[in-house]
Amino acid sequence: VHYFSPGPASLPESVRNQIKEELLDTFGIGVSVMEISHRSKQYEQLNEETQAIARKVFQVPATHSILFSPGGAQQHFSVVPKHLSAPGEEIAYTDTGVWAHLACEEVFALPRKVHLVFDGRTNDYVSLGNPQDWDIPQNSKFIHLTVNNTVYGTEYPTIPTFGNIPLVLDMTSSLAARTDIPWESTALVYASAQKNFGIAGVSVIIMNNDLLEKSREITKHNHLGKAHSYHAIYDAKSALNTPPVFSIFAMNRMLNWIDHSGGTPAMEQWSLEKAKMIYSEIDAGLYIGRTHKNCRSRHNFVFKLPTEEQDNHFIAEAAKHNLLEIKGYRCVGGIRVSMYNGVCMESASVFAEFMRDYRKKYG
Ligand code: PLP
Repeated sequence: VHYFSPGPASLPESVRNQIKEELLDTFGIGVSVMEISHRSKQYEQLNEETQAIARKVFQVPATHSILFSPGGAQQHFSVVPKHLSAPGEEIAYTDTGVWAHLACEEVFALPRKVHLVFDGRTNDYVSLGNPQDWDIPQNSKFIHLTVNNTVYGTEYPTIPTFGNIPLVLDMTSSLAARTDIPWESTALVYASAQKNFGIAGVSVIIMNNDLLEKSREITKHNHLGKAHSYHAIYDAKSALNTPPVFSIFAMNRMLNWIDHSGGTPAMEQWSLEKAKMIYSEIDAGLYIGRTHKNCRSRHNFVFKLPTEEQDNHFIAEAAKHNLLEIKGYRCVGGIRVSMYNGVCMESASVFAEFMRDYRKKYG
């Protein structure tokens, strides 16, 4: 089976097998990772090792701290701005797709002066505009970008920077797959694990150390519970409340696999190659790509055929070849094929070949 789910996403075969083998007696003491106390020395060691491998794979410099938070990325849409800005302060947001839009909705409900500096709704989210043209107030506390827009299939070819204005990056579908994070300009990165580096249940927050310290004061005015405060989670070494131990274990195994496979540089290279294979088929005729070519996603390939009937036929034919989970998102329609780190090169080339054969037969 070749499985192209937009997330939760495929794990590499060897990671799946490793997790299966280790599941029931994970630490050699007859106890599974699902049962182990998060205060045991075995879990503490797993947690520390996962921190270390995360820092290596995500290429995080000493200026930033890493913490693991239970739950998904969406939980952080309203929590992130409460760590970096106080009521009444200015912040800048971009609406580049479904998830970016939800992040905007959450922040517009807060007592902040929110500047929407790019509104992708005006072009039906087919492009990301030109970031250099955006009018961002100089005293903005940060600007929020969604690096890869999973639903519409757009991604910044390089992550833009805006002088002294710190970046906040939703990298849910791009962390561990891109090497160009401009750390010096970055206040905070957040991502849930289930696309490129693990399974659902845990999110990673990477925050500039100085801003993490400053957030101790800022959060006092922002009505945040302790369990949602990044500094409290950091102080408790990511075990403030019972952590999602199984998700952290799976993330550990996936991060180690990434590391042994050449790290994020190799993942980035493979993503670019997989994307090239699929986009060359899209551009060869019959298929209609959804986005502008200058901001095509490296992970989510969104296209359609001339009619909805043909879309459905394509999806049904693909299923006969065990090419699964390629239906477009409900508000977009058409086809979306997602290839994150766990989707191997062979699956990408099998899919590209299927597209070629289908075009020859029905195009
Ligand atoms: N941000 C982006 C870019 C996403 O693609 C998604 C989910 O697909 C989310 C946020 C929401 O993630 P979660 O389901 O972990 O809350």
